[in-house]
Amino acid sequence: MTAYRIVCVTKEVRKPHARREHIVIVGVTTDVTKAMRDLTMTVGKVRERMNGGDQFFTVGPDSGKRAAVRKLTCGKCGVKTIRSRKDAVVDNNLDGLASC
Ligand SMILES: [Zn+2]
Repeated sequence: MTAYRIVCVTKEVRKPHARREHIVIVGVTTDVTKAMRDLTMTVGKVRERMNGGDQFFTVGPDSGKRAAVRKLTCGKCGVKTIRSRKDAVVDNNLDGLASC
């Protein structure tokens, strides 16, 4: 099992809900103490690794809090994506990370 910290995200606007963006690419590192990406993965690859038992999370730069990242299937467009859990705070929310 490997734990990956997600440090940046690339989003794409999906129809039919143009204002809702979905994450398509993430930058990750296995060194949880730093916020520099070591490699880039598609969301499909992230979900595949999750299925294999790997864990993904974010860390808020100000709060220092971790939030687990889970798989999500969008209820509107059906895309298979990922999101941070509901207990995420503002600065560790997956949607709030820097773009990469
Ligand atoms: Zn959607």
